[in-house]
Amino acid sequence: MNASLPMTIDDIEAAARRLSGRVLTTPLVASASLSRLCGVPVGLKLEHHQTTGSFKLRGATNAVLSLSNEEHARGVVAASTGNHGRALAHAARAEGSVATICMSHLVPENKVSEIRRLGADVRIVGRSQDEAQQEVERLVAKKGLVMVPPFDHPAVVAGQGTLGLEIVEQMPDVAIVLVPVSGGGLAAGVAAAVKARRPATRVIGLTMERGAAMQASLAAGKPVLVEEQPSLADSLGGGIGLDNRVTFSMCREFLDDIILLTEAEIAAGMRHAYAEEREIVEGAGAVGIAALLAGKIKTIGGPVAVILSGRNVDMGLHLSVMNGGTDPFRKEAAA
Ligand SMILES: *Cc1c(COP(=O)(O)O)cnc(C)c1O
Repeated sequence: MNASLPMTIDDIEAAARRLSGRVLTTPLVASASLSRLCGVPVGLKLEHHQTTGSFKLRGATNAVLSLSNEEHARGVVAASTGNHGRALAHAARAEGSVATICMSHLVPENKVSEIRRLGADVRIVGRSQDEAQQEVERLVAKKGLVMVPPFDHPAVVAGQGTLGLEIVEQMPDVAIVLVPVSGGGLAAGVAAAVKARRPATRVIGLTMERGAAMQASLAAGKPVLVEEQPSLADSLGGGIGLDNRVTFSMCREFLDDIILLTEAEIAAGMRHAYAEEREIVEGAGAVGIAALLAGKIKTIGGPVAVILSGRNVDMGLHLSVMNGGTDPFRKEAAA
């Protein structure tokens, strides 16, 4: 492994020991329908069944458990209202620390109350995500709270990497791992773990055509900004950070490819998960199935593991996708 990388398999193994008994070891189950379609065994890693509904609990819990006693007493802070915010709130409470989650006045009340219910101290400031992030920085400077970012942090990446260790144990002959990519914390950790155990296994990242920040950055050879657009895979929105320290170099080292999906393909992935596998997954969690259904992955050489990364989808949106809607955002824009 490249010695200049920000973390190694040892960090992921240490994370696995720390997380043992604290997060679920999620099942990897055979998909009869996708195995038939692809002509090789296809297994679904049901990480959307993880506590809080996404893999983000692994990284958040590892970050909280990596704090010094003094940092633990001061508490953690983040600006995410999505899966990372939920996960950090849960992890802090479970470990006896306090999470402060900053959000803007525009965040819907159901999301605010969900994060409050998980025991977080919620601060509502300003009218944008940027203003919420400024409040995070103010609390770090003024009160000494410890910021736990959603992906670009060695302890977070190591925590997500434990998912890769589980896959190799559950499917020892895995030839291809399909992993959703946004900021790249999940992909960096999983790919580092899988390549350390099985260097010949291909690890392929998946994301939406609308705002593929990691793919654009890898193509440019450095972190770049992309325009953000609404997508069914809302958990894959956002950039990788122009000052990216951890995930860009790791994705460049370990990912074999990144494949882009259209909104219609993501919708088809969500429908297949529900109709054929009886699983409710959010758009971001369905990109692996979507890529197989779209014929975008060459499945030769052995079994495929597909990570279903989350299930926190608005149920009205899920229902509309099940009823055949592929692009609710475009319709809204046209109306
Ligand atoms: C955060 C998230 C991702 C992307 O993870 P990154 O580490 O940002 O690449 C994928 N799926 C779900 C459900 C998520 O919450």
